[in-house]
Amino acid sequence: MNIGLLALQGAVSEHKITMRELGIDVINVREAKDLNNLDGLIMPGGESTTLRKLLKNANMWDSIKKSNIPIMGTCAGAILLGKCDDETFGKMDVVIDRNYYGRQKDSFESKITVDSDKEFNGIFIRAPAIVSIGENVVSIAQDGKNIVGCTESKHMALTFHPELTNDSRFHKLWLENLK
Ligand code: GLN
Repeated sequence: MNIGLLALQGAVSEHKITMRELGIDVINVREAKDLNNLDGLIMPGGESTTLRKLLKNANMWDSIKKSNIPIMGTCAGAILLGKCDDETFGKMDVVIDRNYYGRQKDSFESKITVDSDKEFNGIFIRAPAIVSIGENVVSIAQDGKNIVGCTESKHMALTFHPELTNDSRFHKLWLENLK
């Protein structure tokens, strides 16, 4: 499988390491031609305003918007996948509230719930919140009552940073959905 990793800004190398552990050497995506023949694209966390600017400067914004490439978006990547007050790709029917928990110093870790009974160490860095999901969206991870991870067809949005743990469950799940 050809999996691209948006390598413009943010937690890039950590996603690369996680995917390598799953046996996949990702393709660094830095310009529009790198999007050709991808089976999936990871959009890492960072800062969504900056990512948007960099994507536009690299002429990738419209290409990604028009494409049907399945995307895994973490944190800032999840913001761009969903819908919020700022311009996003809006590929998922998910309403996002940026910087929901406050400032950088309000970042935190929390044992989140996966598959109703399993735990995952959720790392939330100036994280957004998923405030509502459409009927075709499936909640796959929760922090108490809040949805922190969801899928819609082959897209996955996570408000936390799974690439900063040694636990590749979410990457694996996304990859399995691509088959
Ligand atoms: N607060 C950032 C934003 O609004 C996201 C933070 C992150 O990706 N860790 O884009």
